[in-house]
Amino acid sequence: MKTTSRTLSSTKHIALVAHDHLKQDLINWVKTNRTLLENHELYATGTTGHLIQQETDLEINSLLSGPMGGDQQLGGMIAELEIDLMIFFWDPMNAAPHDPDVKALMRIATVWNIPVALNMATADFLVHSPAFNQAVDIKIPDYKSYLAERLK
Ligand code: PGA
Repeated sequence: MKTTSRTLSSTKHIALVAHDHLKQDLINWVKTNRTLLENHELYATGTTGHLIQQETDLEINSLLSGPMGGDQQLGGMIAELEIDLMIFFWDPMNAAPHDPDVKALMRIATVWNIPVALNMATADFLVHSPAFNQAVDIKIPDYKSYLAERLK
């Protein structure tokens, strides 16, 4: 597929998601990294977002709860280039009722090539990367030529 370039601005739109057994881990991680996160625009699935907002005084744009459509909302935002980076504390040990949505979210994040952390170590790498607070170019699918190719 042809690619084009997308600039992620220095102030990033960051999605935060945690499955139930990992919500406290994400809250603790957000508290630890508060000063790194507070200059960015934060989004989250419903329960995760409300819990983080309760436990910190960070402003969070909370979507619907994940199993009620929040993962799909995030996926739509990623495809519309409204999310720049995702931190998703995904639970590899417990089945989720909305597993197809989780898979779809990971898939669309990969399609649009945004930086994604699926565990805490990777989340640490992301927030400590020089690119976290700088404008950075990423390659994304060239949708116009993708569509033109299909309409031939
Ligand atoms: P929640 O959704 O934040 O509403 O619990 C997270 C998820 O996708 O499971």
